[in-house]
Amino acid sequence: MELIDGKAISAEIKDELKLKVEKLKSEGKEGCLAVIQVGNDPASSIYVKNKKKACEYIGIGSVSYELSENTSEEKLLGVIDDLNKNPDITGILVQLPLPSSICEDNIIKAISPEKDVDGFHPVNVGNLCGGRDCFVSCTPAGVIELLKRSNVDISGKSCVVIGRSNIVGKPMALLMLKENATVTICHSKTPNLKEVASKADILIVAMGKPKFVGAEYVKKGAVVIDVGIHRDENNKMCGDVDFEAVKDIASKITPVPGGVGPMTIAMLMKNCVKAIENK
Ligand code: NAD
Repeated sequence: MELIDGKAISAEIKDELKLKVEKLKSEGKEGCLAVIQVGNDPASSIYVKNKKKACEYIGIGSVSYELSENTSEEKLLGVIDDLNKNPDITGILVQLPLPSSICEDNIIKAISPEKDVDGFHPVNVGNLCGGRDCFVSCTPAGVIELLKRSNVDISGKSCVVIGRSNIVGKPMALLMLKENATVTICHSKTPNLKEVASKADILIVAMGKPKFVGAEYVKKGAVVIDVGIHRDENNKMCGDVDFEAVKDIASKITPVPGGVGPMTIAMLMKNCVKAIENK
């Protein structure tokens, strides 16, 4: 079994982006990511801090808007409208989840598609469906980079994606299709999950269930990508895959932590640089 090292690959990508940003600056092209957080959920605060740190590392600006938990939807829409119109802001990111009083869908739709570095706006999702150039959701885009940079052939392979969320499962399946895999999407209503999953050459698990996928879900020699992030009963990080049970069956596998996780921010930075290039 070979470990797919997301930490090393994400560092490589950020270094490539750093050089690209330097070059763009020399051509007079600069940009800035606006990060909006509503409320002070501790996990969201850590994500926001890490995103700003990554911007600093690759050499692009970032500004953060920390709005109180009881911010109204109108107020948030007003902030987004100002940022959409501000030519110095090249990327806008609203940290999810939002308080239940705000409709996430309205907020996602309000962000200008040209500044939607999360790739959640319906225009970007539609362009992804149509196979056109667009901002792609960062976690699934990160999985594609991991596979390519680990020399996994995708074309013609059978791929099973477990999970159909708008942020991970669905765009993941579309991206694998674009890479010419034969794709099956499984979800909570799929019968015979083990049987379907164990046919996959490439198994991508994004189901949000700690250590759910054991040995019987994995074909000998399959490539296993674990998107899940959890804390187990000992407060140790783990994924949706039971790593110990699967590691000797898979040919390549991502660990948690250090697999898909670090790729999400690297791909966000890639989208931020793309937004500057498109400016
Ligand atoms: P989600 O809860 O929105 O979606 C989970 C999906 O799994 C659903 O489509 C559901 O149908 C499917 N599912 C649930 N139980 C199932 C079962 N028993 N059998 C088959 N399918 C089942 O979650 P999400 O936002 O897609 O995230 C999935 C996991 O990935 C979570 O653990 C999340 O924390 C993690 N995540 C990690 C990153 C990262 O940067 N690494 C980013 C986003 C999400």
